Amino acid sequence: MFTPIRGKSVIVTGGSKGIGKGIASVFAKQGARILVVARGLETAQTTAREIAAAGGTASAFQADVAKWEDMEAMASAAVERHGGIDILCANAGVFPDAKMRDMTAEQWDEVLGTNLKGCFLSIKACMAHLGASGAGRVILTSSITGPLTGFPGWTHYGASKSGQLGFMRTAAIELAGDGITINAVLPGNIKTEGLIQLGEEYLATMASSIPLKKLGAVEDIGNAALFFASKEAAFITGQTIVVDGGQTLPESLEAMQAA
Ligand code: NAP
Repeated sequence: MFTPIRGKSVIVTGGSKGIGKGIASVFAKQGARILVVARGLETAQTTAREIAAAGGTASAFQADVAKWEDMEAMASAAVERHGGIDILCANAGVFPDAKMRDMTAEQWDEVLGTNLKGCFLSIKACMAHLGASGAGRVILTSSITGPLTGFPGWTHYGASKSGQLGFMRTAAIELAGDGITINAVLPGNIKTEGLIQLGEEYLATMASSIPLKKLGAVEDIGNAALFFASKEAAFITGQTIVVDGGQTLPESLEAMQAA
């Protein structure tokens, strides 16, 4: 049994939908107070209301992780509303697909700006507050795509998700002096609003290529993030957990079929 995170002040970027909403809900069920951050205020407010209706504590904040002023305002809002920041879940991300021959420089910048620069800016804005307790936690939502696998159409996305891990390994050393740990969850295919947009055929093909024969649930990622946020994970930093139903294990199609 892990020490409860009751009362902790938690920011979840991209908390209005999908995996972020799953993380926010799992943490709220444990009694943490959540700031749900997204560009779309209405959806973030709806999520915060849903968490509150389920007995949790949450409020919404409108911000773009790619903008420094927004990240500073987000950190201030968390401090104002919750008295500090204990845990930052840097989860906001986008994954529009475009093959290299069609990809524009703007598309590249959008993905790297949100997924990678957004991580840096959100952590930079929160780090002084995270350090105040001597036990702050940062949890990144990376991906199997990039660090472990490739998928045509996602060179920019893969670069951003691998980049998060390169960033993390040095950030872990820099943050350690203030007792802050930083770790990453690497989701496989998780059934979210963003993934559903890729179409039924994509979802079905993906499920059949996962040894556990189904897509993950957002709570699967929330639970892995909760472990990194726990007191018991205090000596773990700069590390990763793959949560993919075994998707990255088969070495070939034949390996799947042989099972
Ligand atoms: P999603 O359903 O599309 O949700 C994305 C969330 O991020 C929304 O709350 C969105 O709200 C927010 N967001 C996007 N850009 C933002 C920005 N610039 N500033 C602030 N918030 C922003 O996506 P998801 O599938 O849950 O993915 C969440 C994270 O998991 C991403 O980092 C993604 O790379 C990672 N991931 C997902 C999967 C998967 O299978 N779903 C697998 C591996 C990794 P607004 O649009 O209103 O801002």
